[in-house]
Amino acid sequence: MIPLKTFVSERRAANLLQQVRWRDGVYCPRCRAESVIRYGSYRVFQRYRCKNCDRTFNDQTGTVFEHSAVELRKWFLAVYTYIRFNTSLRQLDVEIDVSYKTVYRRVQRFLRALDAPQPQLEGPVEIDELYVKTGLKGRERDRPSRSRGLSTRGRGSYEQDKLPVFILADRGTGDRYVIPAKAADESTIRLLLADRKEESLTVYTDGFRAYEPLDEDDAFDREYVVHGDGEYADGDVHVNTCESHGSLARSWLSPHRGVSKAKLTPYLRAFQLRRRVYRKPGKEALKTIPKTAL
Ligand SMILES: [Zn+2]
Repeated sequence: MIPLKTFVSERRAANLLQQVRWRDGVYCPRCRAESVIRYGSYRVFQRYRCKNCDRTFNDQTGTVFEHSAVELRKWFLAVYTYIRFNTSLRQLDVEIDVSYKTVYRRVQRFLRALDAPQPQLEGPVEIDELYVKTGLKGRERDRPSRSRGLSTRGRGSYEQDKLPVFILADRGTGDRYVIPAKAADESTIRLLLADRKEESLTVYTDGFRAYEPLDEDDAFDREYVVHGDGEYADGDVHVNTCESHGSLARSWLSPHRGVSKAKLTPYLRAFQLRRRVYRKPGKEALKTIPKTAL
């Protein structure tokens, strides 16, 4: 159920932020001291005074929602509907009656604050890549593309408009990761597989050459399927989980067509967050969403 009450009452929104933010107790955002006292209020937000540095702050200070003329309840509605329903930001400006530019900036700020995925791989791990066509919407001008290095084998790299995005599906933990990279090459792949719980890791890939060096490495037990041969699965050896997760990631990006290289990472972190709250009831989801950006 959509937590509608929070979207119509600024006080409820403020209470929710307070709850989420200080779940481990109130501390000063500037000097991190925990000796703070309640000190009146700022609009509907509780205000505090730090006994250590003597400065005041409120529940919103230092969050991605601070310094905004727009009410918090509207920002909650914006990030909630974006994460839940992948609402386009163009649609959001109409819904919350705020200019597109204001919505865009604040949502970007929220997205940049989202945690980076930190894979702790247990295995077996499926790994695969997809290639996302990125746009230039008013951002960095592309340098002329270099001649393709052998390592990319025509599969796209940061220098081109198609950016490789790796999908990891850890069958041990059930976690999935969607991580953009500058190139689809050996060193990127090693980096992605570096954080693992055990010394050795079972890895399932397709026949792409950049995965081949894993065969010579004792740390990896690599098995692969060759799609070109019409082979898609050999018992446990397949990357089907990656492929279906990859197509979800693609459709997540589609309302934001032409997203620039620089913005791809935050948009994909939002996709990761969407999966985390997917099965949660509205109220729980609404708590998790700002919590992830604190
Ligand atoms: Zn302080």
